[in-house]
Order: sequence, then structure tokens, then C-alpha cells
Amino acid sequence: MDAISTPKRYDLDDDGVVVIIGSGAGGGTLAHELTRRGVEVVLLEAGRHLTPEDFVNDEWGGYEMLSWLDKRTSSGSWRVAKDHPEAPSWHCQVVGGTTTHWSGCCYRLIEDEMRARTVYGDIPGTSLIDWPITLDELEPYYDLAEAKMGVTGTNGLPPLPPNNNFKVMYWGAKRLGFEVSTGRHAINSIAYDGRPATIQDGFTITGDKTGSRWSTLNVEIPRALATGKLELRPQSRAVLIEHDEAGNASGVVYVDAAGIRQRQKARAVVLAGNCIESPRLLLHSASGRFPDGLANGWGHVGRHYLRHVIQTVWSVFDKPVNMHRGEIMTGLVRDFVRHDPARGFAGGYYVELNSMGLPTTAAFLEPGWWGRDFVSVIEQYSHMAGMLLSGEDMPQPGNRVTLTDELDAFGVPVANIHYDDHPNDLRLRNHGYKTMTAIHKAAGAKRSIEAPAYPASHNLGSNRMAARAEDGVLDVNGRAHEVPNLFIADGSGFATGGACNPTLTIVALAIRQADFIAGQMSKGEL
Ligand SMILES: Cc1cc2nc3c(=O)[nH]c(=O)nc-3n(C[C@H](O)[C@H](O)[C@H](O)COP(=O)(O)OP(=O)(O)OC[C@H]3O[C@@H](n4cnc5c(N)ncnc54)[C@H](O)[C@@H]3O)c2cc1C
Repeated sequence: MDAISTPKRYDLDDDGVVVIIGSGAGGGTLAHELTRRGVEVVLLEAGRHLTPEDFVNDEWGGYEMLSWLDKRTSSGSWRVAKDHPEAPSWHCQVVGGTTTHWSGCCYRLIEDEMRARTVYGDIPGTSLIDWPITLDELEPYYDLAEAKMGVTGTNGLPPLPPNNNFKVMYWGAKRLGFEVSTGRHAINSIAYDGRPATIQDGFTITGDKTGSRWSTLNVEIPRALATGKLELRPQSRAVLIEHDEAGNASGVVYVDAAGIRQRQKARAVVLAGNCIESPRLLLHSASGRFPDGLANGWGHVGRHYLRHVIQTVWSVFDKPVNMHRGEIMTGLVRDFVRHDPARGFAGGYYVELNSMGLPTTAAFLEPGWWGRDFVSVIEQYSHMAGMLLSGEDMPQPGNRVTLTDELDAFGVPVANIHYDDHPNDLRLRNHGYKTMTAIHKAAGAKRSIEAPAYPASHNLGSNRMAARAEDGVLDVNGRAHEVPNLFIADGSGFATGGACNPTLTIVALAIRQADFIAGQMSKGEL
């Protein structure tokens, strides 16, 4: 059932509104931050507006209800192209975007990561740059983001409690001399900001019926609606961004819930459709003035795609672990996040706790694995523990989102995602595998499985920000270098990926961008 959206209505010809495309981490946050500063916003969201009653405590059911399931293609040497060729990236199509589906881990980028080109040096085959913004400049916005999201370990909020899976990780990591904690999460450990404490049911990832986890669906969008300055239009698929003769974005063509093409005029347009859909729309919005795609004069739209080196290790123990109980990612070892060339690779990684239900474990453990050996592992599901590596991957110009010749139901070309692993990524991955396996072995694992990557859930960098137009699509405020009233508020704007889960940074940047956009408007410069 779709929830009631909004009583506020803006005319399609109203060119005073900011049109935001996508209501996830970036777009939903920006909608709230702009409307509370008095800016009028139309929020176009391709997906439905669900309520907590709609969500299901069922891994596959939740995945199918929330995910972006439209066809894609993939290519390149990454294993994902072989295992999941038509679903290489994992994100959502629903009001709230992927914040309806995320696990809530919240970590900040560190200084070295934001100066990656300077610190890591000139690594052949990469297109590394430094962020145009410093950590010092971003930190006040990280503070605001953590407060609004209720991140544990900040603002006086206690950490989430350990579960059995964590205890395994803890003992292994401690024996090896690593620092280990339950980490930081935008999941309430105690009641906070009108949301209850988690009941530890492990189902915050399938929508979150109880509302203990921050999402734009349960926090930002209702608050934006309450300002009276937001019109939310669910089931509204943007298909084209238009511009005027001067090269300014003038409006957005979208297909509404009834399947009718509409054109919403705009004072400014903000694209926040996630890292695949945003470049796809820019490329599709090519015109005589922008023949290679909107804001793509330098050819960076869709390039430098990042997805983190994400790998998992699953181990079998003598005694039951029941890893599905409790919040699923409450564990962190951060000993390897700092850049240390002595390890043989640039950048770093986090080891995070991870658990999956039985169906997902069976599907992702080793796609295609079947027979007696597979069964001997999976039948011990109750005795399994898991961990996940989140490491920095290297930007490469050839890792990119492009358009294919095949059109989708809305007449927009299907996207292809090409990704080749860089040798640095593989060295980091192998180091991380060894660390995770060593932790489980130190805790007494009987058998460990180093599993391949599943579809990319940290999609970043395909419209990156850069100090110079010749190095990236966006400037330091997430504004297109070539189109002064076109902005990007999603993870595609990352200059490099760092190692940390990206959502806290997406939210911090969106708050900062709201300051900029509202400031420009009040000065009459936008
Ligand atoms: C299973 C899972 C677990 C995760 N766990 C974590 C975690 O613990 N910590 C963390 O930091 N990150 C996590 N992530 C990643 C995180 O959820 C994403 O990085 C983040 O939500 C991305 O924000 P975004 O604004 O770029 O896009 P999204 O949140 O994906 O929002 C994009 C929105 O745009 C809409 N849209 C796209 N195209 C159009 C169009 N043409 N017209 C209209 N609307 C459109 C989509 O429907 C969607 O609602 C996880 C992701 C997954 C899949």
C-alpha cells in the first residue's frame, strides 16, 4: 500500500522550485535541509512510498520489495560480472532509497583518504585525485550528520550491544592483538529523536518495521513534508534533464505514476539517483550543446566508478553462533585503515562484522557451488560466523557506467557497468582475506570460506568532484562545473572512495550542499 504523500502541490510550470531526483541518503537529506531553510522543493522518486506495515521480515521478500531490479548489463574482470551479470549493483527503488535497506554502519573518511593522490602517489593505471574539500572543512558536517542520524558512540549514545557473531570476532581479534569494538551505527541503542531502541531482531535491513534505524524515509522526508515546502512525487521516473539556451538546467521530464510524461520546470536541479542512475541520466540528457551528455564536456560522467573492495569470510565453529541474531554488522577492527605502503598496497580497509540469513548465505557463499561439499558447510549454518572487508578501491577511468543500445520501458538506454580490478585492489583484497581468516582461526574456526564479492552495495565516484573541471564533473559544492544550477547529492560525487561505508559522508555532504544552495539563493546568485 502506498502511503499518503503530501498535500503540498507545485505547478508544473513553477520555475521557482528546486527539483531533486531521488529520495535516498543524499536526495532525502537534501530535501529536508533545503526545506527547513525555506527553499521550495519537488522531490521526484521512481519508487513507491511504503510504510513500516508494508515491510516484511524476510530477506528475499525484503530485497524484492525494495531493490532496483531494472535490467543492467556488466563487463570487465570483476567477479560480479560473472556471478551477477544483470544485477551488478545493489541499491533501492523506493521512497527513502537505499537507506531503507542499509545496515547502518557509520564511519568517517580519514585525512589520508581525502588526500589520496598526494599521499598514495602516482599509481599506474589509476586516476587518483585529492578531494577538493579538506577533512577539517567536512568535520562540522560530520558532527551534524551524526547527530541527526543518532550514530552510536557519538552525542552520548551508547554502542550497540555485542551478539554471538561479535563475540567470535572479538576473541579472535584480541588474540591477534587488534583493537575491536561493536562500531558505530545509525541504529538506536536507546530511544533517541522520537525513534525507539532496536529490538535486536536483525531485520533493520529489510525496511525496518520498528523504525530504530535512521533512514530518509522515517526521519528526513516526514520532517521535510512538515515544513509545507516539499512536494513528494513517488513513482515518478525522471527520464531527461533539460536546459535552456544559456546552458542552465531548466526542468526535468519524468513519467508519473499513471505512466504519463510530465515536465517539471526548475530553478535548480539536483540529481541524487545513486551512482548508476545519475550518470545514466546525464548521459541520456545529451543535446546539441552537450553532445556527449549533460555536464560531460570533459568526458568524466560515468567514469572512475568505485564500489569498494567488499569481500566476506564465513567460518564454521564447533559450537552454535546463530549469527542471524541481533544487529547484523555490530563489529569493527580498524587496525588496517591507515595507508601503510609496507603492506604492499595503497589505502586501507576495515574489517566489519557481517551476518546473513540462511537463504542469502547459500546464494552468496560461492555462486554455483553445489553438491556434498557445499551441503557440508551450509547445513552448519547455525554454527557459522561472518565478517566483511570494506576496503578502498582505486579509481580508474575505464571503470565506468555507459549506455547500451537496449531501451528500458521508459525509453532510456539500459546502463552497462564495466569494472576491472586494479592490481592494488587485488593485493588489498588478499591481505584482507588473510586478516579475516586469521581472526576466525584464532577464535577456533574449523573451516573458513573466502567468499567472492556480491553485487556492489557501495556505489561511488561516477560523477566525481574535483578542484578542476578537467578532472571531474562537480566542484567542491557538488555543482556541475559546466552547468551552474545543476547539482549532484549522491555517492557518485565522491572524489575517491576511502575505505569506510559511505552513507555518513553522503549525508554530511548533502547538509553542506544545502548551506551552499540556500546561501546562493538568498544572495540571488542561483
Ligand atoms: C544491503 C545494503 C547494506 C548497506 N549498508 C550500509 C552501511 O551499513 N553503511 C553505509 O554507509 N552504507 C551502506 N550501504 C550503502 C548505502 O545504502 C548507499 O551508499 C546510500 O544509500 C547511497 O545513497 P544515494 O543517495 O547515493 O542513493 P540511494 O540511497 O540509493 O537513493 C537513490 C534514489 O534515487 C531514486 N532514483 C534513481 N533514479 C531515479 C530516476 N530516474 N527518477 C526518480 N528517482 C530515481 C532511486 O529509486 C532511489 O530511491 C548499504 C547498501 C546496501 C544495498
